Amino acid sequence: MRIDLHTHSRVSDGTDAPSDIVWLARRAGLDVVALTDHDTADGWASATAAGLEAGVAVVRGMEISTEYRGVGVHLLGYELDPSLPPLAAELAHIRSDRRDRLGRISARLTAAGYPLEVDDILATAHDASTVGRPHVADAMIAKGYVRTRDEAFARWLADGGPGYAPKYAPSTADAIALVRAAGGVSVLAHPWGRGSRRVLDGDAFEDLARAGLDGIEVDHQDHDAVDRAELRGLAHDLDLAVTGSSDYHGVGKFDHELGINTTEPAHWERLASLAAQRAAEVRR
Ligand code: AMP
Ligand code: FE
Ligand code: FE
Ligand code: ZN
Repeated sequence: MRIDLHTHSRVSDGTDAPSDIVWLARRAGLDVVALTDHDTADGWASATAAGLEAGVAVVRGMEISTEYRGVGVHLLGYELDPSLPPLAAELAHIRSDRRDRLGRISARLTAAGYPLEVDDILATAHDASTVGRPHVADAMIAKGYVRTRDEAFARWLADGGPGYAPKYAPSTADAIALVRAAGGVSVLAHPWGRGSRRVLDGDAFEDLARAGLDGIEVDHQDHDAVDRAELRGLAHDLDLAVTGSSDYHGVGKFDHELGINTTEPAHWERLASLAAQRAAEVRR
């Protein structure tokens, strides 16, 4: 049983259609794949339909942009109902500020001598429901300013970079509560990716576990062997589920191929049964 619980389609900042991810998952020998686009559930219907045809179990997920102690933290929510009003309103708020933020990023790049209109960015985002910095990177590539998304981030778009503008995000604890209230489970995505190790220390994990967190994404390409061992220990001590995933973005991110990390079936079963319990409570 091979399970990958973190992938992105072009509904957010990946480069494949949701249904293509499902067929590629089958080719990669996966039995279970979660579609976890940023801050939207818009890819679920076509992924689920493809899953029925391909014989791949599709987990409905999303990666929610949150903030903990002033730093961006990604929270994976699974099997939640995105139409429940408090969660739906929060997601709409996040997406609309992401859209406004393109204007702020465009102004910064233009002032730095690299003119880029919001429409240039939207042209690379096609019909994505959630826009973000990777689309800005694609627009910069189209203009010939950089060659790759990586280069765009390194030179311009990384947090604090000359083309960076912050975006609205709810607190991680609030997002955990919203996912629960929507009948889902939550897993902290790549907690020690990109230098966030200093912010998410043992104390932070305890705090978030108390807020209702259900799991930690331990096996992720941003974590080396030492990180993974330490995170596994933290998850064990706090009685949290452990997941492993690719964070596949199509050709948008290197070294994140489908199935490059996977989740132990027992850990996914634990999360899935928790979600089933919560969904039943929500319906009551
Ligand atoms: P945003 O959600 O707009 O703040 O942009 C963050 C997204 O950019 C995350 O989903 C990452 O997957 C992606 N990202 C961050 N750094 C890089 C990089 N160096 N190359 C490609 N994508 C990146
Ligand atoms: Fe992404
Ligand atoms: Fe992420
Ligand atoms: Zn992701």
